[in-house]
Amino acid sequence: MRFEFAAAGRILFGPGTLEEIPSLVDDLGKKALLVHGRGRERARRLEEVLHPKGFEVVTFSVWGEPTTDLVEEGVRLARDEKCRVVLGIGGGSVLDTGKAIAALGPNDGPLLDYLEVIGKGKPLLVPSLPFVAIPTTAGTGSEVTRNAVLASREHGVKVSLRNASMLPRLAVVDPLLTHSLPPTVTASTGMDALTQLIEPFLSNASNPLTDSLCREAIPRVARALPRAFRNGSDSRAREDLALGSLFSGLALANARLGAVHGLAGTLGGMFPAPHGAVCARLLPLVFEANAQALRSRNPLSPVLDRLAETARLLTGKASATPEDAVNRLQSLCSDLCIPSLSAFGVTSGDIPVVAARARKASSMKGNPVPLTDEELGEILLRAL
Ligand code: NAD
Repeated sequence: MRFEFAAAGRILFGPGTLEEIPSLVDDLGKKALLVHGRGRERARRLEEVLHPKGFEVVTFSVWGEPTTDLVEEGVRLARDEKCRVVLGIGGGSVLDTGKAIAALGPNDGPLLDYLEVIGKGKPLLVPSLPFVAIPTTAGTGSEVTRNAVLASREHGVKVSLRNASMLPRLAVVDPLLTHSLPPTVTASTGMDALTQLIEPFLSNASNPLTDSLCREAIPRVARALPRAFRNGSDSRAREDLALGSLFSGLALANARLGAVHGLAGTLGGMFPAPHGAVCARLLPLVFEANAQALRSRNPLSPVLDRLAETARLLTGKASATPEDAVNRLQSLCSDLCIPSLSAFGVTSGDIPVVAARARKASSMKGNPVPLTDEELGEILLRAL
């Protein structure tokens, strides 16, 4: 057995931990770029606690899922203002934008040079500026991963900027920040976390450490998600989702993902659809396709036991089968009102292009069994 486990330099979890940030970042530099989402309100409390400690804060706003253009704009600002540290407070879109700005800031040349798949994939030679990640959604786990997912409108795909030095210096996970999430975002982001726990658990690069994180968090997320959807102030459910999201980031960064993310990343580059909702819609279908493909092509695969174990973790039933997992995931999707892909403009005519592009996605390599173009096409057709 051989594995590596990397995470943010330090992780602080718990209600109210936002207030502790100034003392934790004191030695990182007093000139900070603060990246935040559409509303300033979630960043305002952070500014309030930073100012009395002598921090000079420059703000940068992120409106949707990050694009390469947006990151280049943020890099120019960070360089012009000579920022020494980047703080991101928001959902995965904000965290990935901040993480990419921090990484690219000290490195020369266009962003495209450093991107996977559509760029040259050059290594970032100069280490990233220190990045502090403060999630306000419970879904992506980006606070502990070494990549930023960026959409290139020009190429119509989402790709990662990835480097070991992009692991955040500090992750502060304060579940109180997620209480204001509306039900639709609670649902889509929570299903993203669940996908990021199930795919690494089934992936061909799982290890005992990521397995234990997934085993702990899958039941928590499956139980908490409908509760937080119905009542956003259920603090126990919010805490379980924030923990599940954190563990999902630790799992995906140290094991791989799979076909759900291969397809979702491709769709996200082509259609303006929330990443988590796309993952949710695809998850039961990919789970079922993986079970069928393994039974017919590799019936002795130990992953078949994993599929049954996932079913037990999702349902709490000792006798659960992979079909029970599919049913549980389908009923979660309908309870959480997850839309079908056609709601985001995907049509049957798009399927061949999506399937062909998804094959090249880095996440696809982690799927426990290679799926054919026909199988990917069938998944997409059923998700419409
Ligand atoms: P998001 O960041 O796009 O946020 C979704 C919506 O929720 C936005 O409108 C935002 O303003 C709002 N919001 C955020 N926090 C809120 C709060 N506390 N209260 C009310 N509204 C709030 O969504 P997300 O799912 O967190 O992030 C999606 C992005 O993350 C995608 O681009 C995806 O590709 C990326 N991602 C990255 C990683 C990684 O490891 N780097 C992993 C998974 C996903």
